[in-house]
Amino acid sequence: MIVRSVEPHASNTLERSLLVMHAHYYPNPKIEGNDVEVIRQNLQWLKENCNVVPLSEGLRCLERGMTLPKRAVSMVVDDATAGFADQGLPLLAEAGIPYSLAVIPGFVESGTRDYKMARLMHMGGHHFRAKGRTVLKKAKEWFRLKDEKEEGVDLNTLFVRARELSDASLSELLNLLQVPHHNMMNWKQLRRLTGTGQVELVSHTMSHPHLRHANEDWLEWETLGAKRALEGATGEPVDVFVYPYGHRKDANRKVVNALQRAGYEYGLLTRKGITTGKTCRFRIPRVNAEVPETVFRKHASTAGWAILYGSRPADENPIECRSRGRGAEHSNGVNQP
Ligand SMILES: [Zn+2]
Repeated sequence: MIVRSVEPHASNTLERSLLVMHAHYYPNPKIEGNDVEVIRQNLQWLKENCNVVPLSEGLRCLERGMTLPKRAVSMVVDDATAGFADQGLPLLAEAGIPYSLAVIPGFVESGTRDYKMARLMHMGGHHFRAKGRTVLKKAKEWFRLKDEKEEGVDLNTLFVRARELSDASLSELLNLLQVPHHNMMNWKQLRRLTGTGQVELVSHTMSHPHLRHANEDWLEWETLGAKRALEGATGEPVDVFVYPYGHRKDANRKVVNALQRAGYEYGLLTRKGITTGKTCRFRIPRVNAEVPETVFRKHASTAGWAILYGSRPADENPIECRSRGRGAEHSNGVNQP
């Protein structure tokens, strides 16, 4: 109730803030707000009541201390699944609002080595967790690795060993582990989308792992490798990164350093809040858009989040958020007007 009563006035005063929303928009009966009519109405409401701006443009405006339109919102759709092409894509096209699509280039079906490696390394994500580590156990047996305590050590070792395998051996390993294929949008569809001018593709790693497990070669492949794969496929620069699962623990110093080395400018989480010029550029918050209509209107409230979370300028464990090649005025993520 508090949010509703102050929101219209307060939002109009927040001209140096951006609310970033996220969704998946593929059919999923487990999600309450996942219904074609609900999504359609929410997007329509967003279009009529907020100013939906392209994400990169919004973030750059904040960085330069420029004023954004009142109630500025950016939309990011994660994963780019084939189900999204069927459900959310036509609804976003109908609404005609700009959005960013977080693509996992390793999962886009192809006969490449990267595609096989991405299927294998998906063990570092929820597949690895959901299967009670049986996939990891089998892989370790295949490589004759002794049981190590640290998960990260195992997965990184597996990455290095797998990369050294012949193509035939890698295929044999995938068959043994029964690693699934992922039903994602294909490159032709993704290229067509970028051509519409409505959509910007952003990076979501090669294999959607919990990045806290990744080190060195594997981490570089997930960050720099994904950027190169996307840029190579579309010819468009990619400087926004979306952390798989969006947990703050995955945006640690080691991962942020890797993102900066790869040339990314921004990293997006799923923790709640709004973005201002003071927000750490590699810990940008996002709010769930895939919710029932009444919740959506509260979630789309810039002022509501500003009251609840502020601009999240400081963390208990601050990290260096300066971009590569930029001036000292950007240090600690504080971009003065
Ligand atoms: Zn994702």
